[in-house]
Amino acid sequence: MKNTLVSSIILISFVLNACRNQEAKLQKVQTNSQYEVNHSASTFSDSLKYPLNVILMIGDGMGLAQIYAAMTANKGNLHLQRCKYIGLSKTNSADDYITDSAAGATAFACGKKTKNGAIAVDTAGKPMPTLLEMAIKEGLATGLVTTCAITHATPASFIAHQPSRDMYEEIAADFLKVPIDLFIGGGIKHFKNRKDKRDLTVELAQKGYQIALSEQELQAFNTGKIAALLADEHIPSIGKGRNQNWLQNATKKAIQILSQNPEGFFLMIEGSQIDWGGHANDANYIIEETLDFDRAIGEVLNFADKTGNTLVIITADHETGGLTLNGGDLKTGEVHVAFTSHDHTAIPVPVFAYGVGAENFAGFYENTAIFTKILELLGLE
Ligand SMILES: [Zn+2]
Repeated sequence: MKNTLVSSIILISFVLNACRNQEAKLQKVQTNSQYEVNHSASTFSDSLKYPLNVILMIGDGMGLAQIYAAMTANKGNLHLQRCKYIGLSKTNSADDYITDSAAGATAFACGKKTKNGAIAVDTAGKPMPTLLEMAIKEGLATGLVTTCAITHATPASFIAHQPSRDMYEEIAADFLKVPIDLFIGGGIKHFKNRKDKRDLTVELAQKGYQIALSEQELQAFNTGKIAALLADEHIPSIGKGRNQNWLQNATKKAIQILSQNPEGFFLMIEGSQIDWGGHANDANYIIEETLDFDRAIGEVLNFADKTGNTLVIITADHETGGLTLNGGDLKTGEVHVAFTSHDHTAIPVPVFAYGVGAENFAGFYENTAIFTKILELLGLE
């Protein structure tokens, strides 16, 4: 009797809460930024088994609802739909049912689950080699592109080794220890305005990097090593003035530089702010950032088509916001959404794969399997 009463109270408060949440959070949104997608068949050869290049694209916080909201806003079209092979990734971290971006990216970068907040170190704090570091050892060119600070959890987990994602200055200093070819993002202050008074941009220049502090400077470089730090902290959101082609242009530049290496390349591209739209429960923010990420996806898939030797993987570290879609219209692009959380959720996220070796990404697996599959396909050890 007592138990029934307790469960009824829990149920009633749950329903009341859910109703309140829904009323508070139901948003009807529509976006003006529409674009065309060419769905014509890809031209890469199915006979190649191993790719020369791998491009890993991470939409931070990009679950299926985020994808479909963006697809609806763009009237039923995304470049993402060009991918023929789709899998599901289970995202929990070593110490939590719900991962953060540090543990999530470490799973992709190192193939091991770690504690939330850890940057490419194991649960005991020991550094683990990353895909990017292994690729360098095998002679591949490497790069990181992001719309947040380059020292933020997702890009950091491919190059730095620190017990906490908040150690931005230590993470920035780790960029000096790994001979990465190119990185594009924000976060100048963690390189220049430091407690230890080092100016890491000077040290990077001494190591042969060309330093770009604006998009114009970045676009002027056509070869060689590049460190592009294009904001003091994060690159602004699309809503706050980031150029709609920012990520697409950065992606294009990264590919232009890295593809000059005959041994191939590994490139990670992050659409960072889909996650922040989720945390803010702001549907417009999510949709604008997801569409922006999808325009970069289009750029990457076109490169894979043109070269025929590239594998592209597009996934997320986790879902953010517990987003659901309660209604919408594919003709007008209107979407009705509701959120169940201001944080990340545990729901598995889709993995889209395209190009050489893409068939290996069908199935339901741990996020760490993405590392293992890439490692195997690139023949890295
Ligand atoms: Zn987040």
